[in-house]
Amino acid sequence: MLLVNGLTKRYGDLLALDDVGFGVEPGQIVGFLGPNGAGKTTTMRAIMRLVALDAGEVTWSGAPVDPTIRQRFGYMPAERGMYPKMRVRDHLVYYAQLSGLDTTTAGRTTDDWLERLGLADRGDDPIEALSSGNQQRVQSALALLDEPDLLVLDEPFSGLDPIAVDMLSDVLREQVERGAALLLSSHQLDLVADVCSAVVIVDRGRVVLRGDVAELRASSPTRLVQVEFASATAWQPDAPSEVSDDGRRHRVSVAAGTDPNGLITDAHSRGDVVAYSFAPPDLSEVFLGVVGRETLDDPERVMAEEVER
Ligand code: ATP
Repeated sequence: MLLVNGLTKRYGDLLALDDVGFGVEPGQIVGFLGPNGAGKTTTMRAIMRLVALDAGEVTWSGAPVDPTIRQRFGYMPAERGMYPKMRVRDHLVYYAQLSGLDTTTAGRTTDDWLERLGLADRGDDPIEALSSGNQQRVQSALALLDEPDLLVLDEPFSGLDPIAVDMLSDVLREQVERGAALLLSSHQLDLVADVCSAVVIVDRGRVVLRGDVAELRASSPTRLVQVEFASATAWQPDAPSEVSDDGRRHRVSVAAGTDPNGLITDAHSRGDVVAYSFAPPDLSEVFLGVVGRETLDDPERVMAEEVER
């Protein structure tokens, strides 16, 4: 199991990581979420021993991560780090050999992954000739090549088309089924809700929420009611609500203890209801509840981060 404990990192006056702690178990996909600049990449780089920490430790199966243990981790950085002129297949074989596979196994593994990721016909092309999404697929193959015990993937879905997203999601589920532990960061919360069993949410270098996705949603103090009427209907329940432009779809946020029957009866009394749902808020609502819209909209913070970069 990966344990991250008390990670603290300063860049000058900026406290990029402030006592970050969480765990990832084998067989588990944990989504690592947070607004821009929250500290996700810094944490992932620290797990991979690429950041000198001011405090804290990272352990795997109880032992501090050293270069030998690190060898069993697969890392996909957010910034691509591939040789643009090198052919796709050569690149993968080279990395497979670096991670300890013999020439034959490296070649076979590379061909398996090229096939699996839909790149079998691109093996002889230089990396730079691939589209951004296909380069992203190669980058994910680099992390997966030697069946690592832990996968640390920084925004693996960014830039992928929906077919590639589905394909990568299946690949990641297979990885945890064979026993890998997986930590991935993403801003695509619907995907995270689909793929991850648990999440860790960071904001301004601190963990603000962590836990099982279903439990976090269920423990929310609110429920989301969605009602679709056959035609535009004026319905004003006693709770914050949004109505679609055509006046047919209503989204209402109510307290978790609210009786759904009372609401549906009230909606029926106003118009012809064609669809109705009463559910815990989705992951993006949970996220906004803890991170706070003001953090996301704070122009000074956005500008400060742009200057830092
Ligand atoms: P994003 O979602 O935008 O990728 P993130 O959550 O991955 O963001 P980090 O890249 O970890 O955020 O950055 C955390 C903070 O540390 C930011 O304020 C960033 O500007 C700062 N930071 C990161 N690396 C450095 C560095 N090498 N020097 C100075 N500041 C840095």
